[in-house]
This record gives sequence, structure tokens and C-alpha cells, in this order.
Amino acid sequence: MSAQQLVVLGATGSIGLSTLDVVERNPSRYQVYALAAGRNVEKMAQLCFKHKPRYAIMDEQAAAKALADILASTETEVLAGVVEMQDIASHVDVDIVMSAIVGAAGLLPTLSAVEAGKKVLLANKESLVMSGQLFMDKVKQHGATLLPIDSEHNAIYQCLPQQAQNGSVDSIHKCGISKILLTGSGGPFLHRDIKSLESVTVEEAVAHPNWSMGQKISVDSATMMNKGLEFIEAKWLFNCQADDIEVVIHPQSMIHSMVQYRDGSVIAQMGQPDMRTPIAYGLAYPERIDAGVEPLDFASIVDFTFTKPDYARYPNLQLAIDACSAGQAATTTLNAANEVAVAAFLNKQIGFCDIYRVNAQTLELSELSVLKSIESIMETDRRARRVAEQIIASMR
Ligand code: NDP
Repeated sequence: MSAQQLVVLGATGSIGLSTLDVVERNPSRYQVYALAAGRNVEKMAQLCFKHKPRYAIMDEQAAAKALADILASTETEVLAGVVEMQDIASHVDVDIVMSAIVGAAGLLPTLSAVEAGKKVLLANKESLVMSGQLFMDKVKQHGATLLPIDSEHNAIYQCLPQQAQNGSVDSIHKCGISKILLTGSGGPFLHRDIKSLESVTVEEAVAHPNWSMGQKISVDSATMMNKGLEFIEAKWLFNCQADDIEVVIHPQSMIHSMVQYRDGSVIAQMGQPDMRTPIAYGLAYPERIDAGVEPLDFASIVDFTFTKPDYARYPNLQLAIDACSAGQAATTTLNAANEVAVAAFLNKQIGFCDIYRVNAQTLELSELSVLKSIESIMETDRRARRVAEQIIASMR
């Protein structure tokens, strides 16, 4: 069997690097066809020297120019911009696309891969939060294979019967499932005095107790907006309703999520908090390959606990669950507002608790219409960003 051709969107990030680590451990199975990133030229150059992709794509023109100069003596062709990312993600020679760009920027290249019927490994949860129904319709229409990489959704997928995995039943209830139990660690502020959350610093917010991740998702984990985005993602991936999903706080991050069946059985997927496990699962599905991840040592596990989320501590989680029931325009708006708010927090323009205020006010001030096309989704995203920016400006 010849090696499968892989495109990594978001190659320089946490998921991108973990993907390339798994690929390196399985060189006869996967060949890097293309790498794409935003503007980190130095990291991208290192990756290109190592993995020798046919194409390297940077979002920014200036970054692409700088990269092309460094790679002048190599076979790698350097391209720039989202349209080139879309072209490469849908190229006829490509078998697998890892979607690991952070935020809304990941949507269009991921959709192109879906429309070309590729095997798409979805880490970029924002794609589904922004365009759930349209995205899933396209997966069906174009015969793409969609495998969730978010550890929770990957865990749920692993706990589903085959007919639910391959979408041959139209409801999870038809295969005896009563609930999807979405676990979350609670992030770094699970036990912190709620009154002191106003003074949380960037450094404190990005220091996740269990997972090593990019900055945006780390802040989302601290506010638990990440769990909210995952709640919305689960609704679309597993074709269920908000009532079918329950969030459970499990601070040890060893169970990555669970599926509860009508007969009382609960199937859980466990493992180290290391994204190489779900990545390897997605790459090789339905086979299993080496991911470089240590097995769990059960004898050394001291605590193994579960609680309900405290919504007063995590108001963003409630906001996202409500948006999930309100519909596509609400989740697209919330996603955009949150990206703007988190960026402002990381730039130290607003405080930690202001993230919720920006998100809630943007939803309040936005007109929520029915979204059926990609153009209307992108327009709603742009509009929500403008509203969020105005709210932030008024806070200063
Ligand atoms: P990082 O911040 O570590 O990496 C983000 C990647 O996206 C970088 O390669 C960055 O390039 C690239 N990027 C940013 N903007 C653009 C753009 N406009 N065009 C092209 N590339 C761009 O994020 P993570 O790896 O942590 O997360 C990536 C996605 O995976 C997110 O959607 C996240 O929610 C999801 N995810 C992550 C998990 C994790 O453990 N990290 C777990 C589950 C899901 P550059 O470096 O050049 O800026």
C-alpha cells in the first residue's frame, strides 16, 4: 500500500505538531503533501526542511515571501492565502486533511476538503459551531469521511456502535443511546474563589492543569467556553439535541467522554491527556497505530472524581448551551464574539470576566436571522466581530 498523502492545516500549532509527530512514527503510512499556517515563518521553515512537503502555504503574503526565500534551495513550492489553502486541501492527489487552524479562519479550507470528499480530521471545532447544518449536509452530499479529533468527540465516537459512527441511523436513540456525557476538567479555576476571577491574568488563564494547547483554546478552557463550543460541536457531529448531551466535570482528564445506553451501561474512553491518541485514531481509522503515548498507570491514580458544572463560575458555558438551542445564527455570532474577546484578553485590553460580558452583549445586540448559505454565515461572523469590537472599545 502506498503512503497516504496528508495536508496539515495549522501545521505550526499544537495539534499540527502533534499530528506531524504521529506521522513521523508511521513513515510508511503517511506522506506530508502540504503544510499550511498563518505567519510563523521560522517554525514553518523547520517543518518544511524536516517533512519535505510539496507545498507550504502561509496565510500572509509577507510571510510566504520570507518563507520562499528560506526554502529557495528546496523542492517545496510556497503559496499564500486562503484560496490556495482551499485549492490544496481539495487537490486530487490528497487523501487526508487535518483541519487544525485555530478559529473561524479554518472554515473555508476545511469545507473545501469536505466538498472534495476527503477524509477530514476535524480539530477546528469552530467550523461546526459556525456552520453546523451546512457543514454536515456537505459531508453527506460529497461522501467525505469526517473523524472528530477533539479528544471528547473522538472519545464519544469510539464509544458509539458502528451504525452511529457511519451515520446509517438517523438518531442515536435508535441504537439504544440515552445520553452523551461530555467531560471537562473545569480548567485552571475550578476551585478559585469566584470573586477573584475578575483579576485573573493571561498567564494564569493559559496555564491549563492537564493539557498543553494553543493560547485561544487554553483561555476557552479557563472560561469553559471551550466546553460550550464542544457542546455545539457534539450536537452536529452526533446528530442529537441539546437535551441529549450532559456536561460532567472530571478534573483528572483521564476519561475523555462517555456514552450512556438505555440499559444502564456507560461506555467510556480513557487515556492520557495527549492529543496524539485521537490524532492517531483519526489518521488510521479503523486500524490502530503507534502514537507515542504512554499507557495509563491505574495503580498510580489517586483521585477519580465527577461533579456537575457550576454555571455561576462558568457563565460562558451556559451562554453556549443556550445559543445551541437558539440556532445557527446564535452560535456563529457567539463564536465570532468570543474570538474577538479572547484576542482582546490575550492583548490585555479587557479583563477575564469581560470575555463573558462581550459575548453576552454581542448576542443581545445582534439580529439573529436564519443562515442557509456560506455567504450569510461569513457575513454574520463579520457583523458579530464589529459589534464585539465596539463593545470592547466602549469598555476602555
Ligand atoms: P495553536 O494556536 O497552537 O495553532 C493554531 C494554528 O493555526 C497555527 O498553525 C497557526 O499558524 C494557524 N493559523 C492561525 N491563523 C491562521 C490563518 N488565518 N490561516 C492559516 N493558519 C492559521 O492552536 P491549537 O493547535 O491548540 O488548536 C487548533 C484547533 O484545534 C483549534 O480550533 C482548537 O480549538 C482545536 N483543538 C485543539 C486542541 C489542543 O489540544 N490544542 C484540542 C482539541 C481541539 P501560525 O503559527 O503561523 O500563527
